Amino acid sequence: MWCLIMGQVVLNCGKNTINEMKNFYEKQLLGKNPPGSVFSAKISGCTITAYQSGKVLFQGNTCEKEAERWKDSALRVTPAKSGALKSSSKSTSAAKGDVPAGIGQLSVIGSDEVGTGDFFGPITVVAAYVKKEQFPLLKELGVRDSKDLNDEKIIEIAKVIKDVVPFSLMTLKNEKYNQVQRAGMSQGKMKALLHNQAILNVLKKIAPEKPDAILIDQFVQSTTYFQHIKGQKEIARENVYFSTKAEGIHLSVAAASILARYAFIQYIDKLSEAAGFSIPKGAGSQVDAAAAKLILNKGRESLGSFVKLHFANTDKAMAIAQKKRK
Ligand code: MG
Repeated sequence: MWCLIMGQVVLNCGKNTINEMKNFYEKQLLGKNPPGSVFSAKISGCTITAYQSGKVLFQGNTCEKEAERWKDSALRVTPAKSGALKSSSKSTSAAKGDVPAGIGQLSVIGSDEVGTGDFFGPITVVAAYVKKEQFPLLKELGVRDSKDLNDEKIIEIAKVIKDVVPFSLMTLKNEKYNQVQRAGMSQGKMKALLHNQAILNVLKKIAPEKPDAILIDQFVQSTTYFQHIKGQKEIARENVYFSTKAEGIHLSVAAASILARYAFIQYIDKLSEAAGFSIPKGAGSQVDAAAAKLILNKGRESLGSFVKLHFANTDKAMAIAQKKRK
């Protein structure tokens, strides 16, 4: 499969071809391989990174010329499965509210968050800019609705797209979350502030280029959103649209969602390390048991750096810990 955007080409290759490439670029291999990669090499005007998934990414001015060398040995790939991201003509018709028709075909900053319903861990918000020229590349890399992807796949895709797509990650850690929550801030307002900041960061990153539109995976009405961020020094307001299920409307939201989930998974791994056992996601009974274990091992005070304290799970965990102490 042959995907090209400005300065980037992706080929899908078999193990043999990748080995062949590795030999070919032997003298230009970089000592350090990005996670999930087989090798990374740098020649004049092009960086070549081969991934365990078989994808080989050529980046730089001469990427096209360099990839051409391997084009014939690259594998053919079956077209994207049905159930993957819907074609944008279909999905725009599903777009709600004020989202302009055809937004799926535009270059867009998409924004999404993860962790709001999880007892353990932070809220992570990512805004990501995807240009229309990048659609084939991102589809090729497997970017689609993250709800269809397991953690393993999320990690694999995120590791590749983080170098391909300009993005900003905002992490609201548990300590800070609990502090502002106690001070009376709603989760909706926290999210609005984080989305606004992430979008502003990406706008700065890509300036002077401007996106055709900004699409936020909707969590409140737009009037409420702007109410929440009223009074901020800077507000991204121009061409901002909201839609539920925005992951299916534009690849930028799907990419943002994958990157936000990746950051969340990594954070949960860090918390697991600190806890000394595997921290569960969600807000079911398994998190109550895990939090009770933390209370027994590290004391009630430790909870504030692991969980969202105002969730009902805190009381449930306290009750479990109390029973166990007896
Ligand atoms: Mg969302």
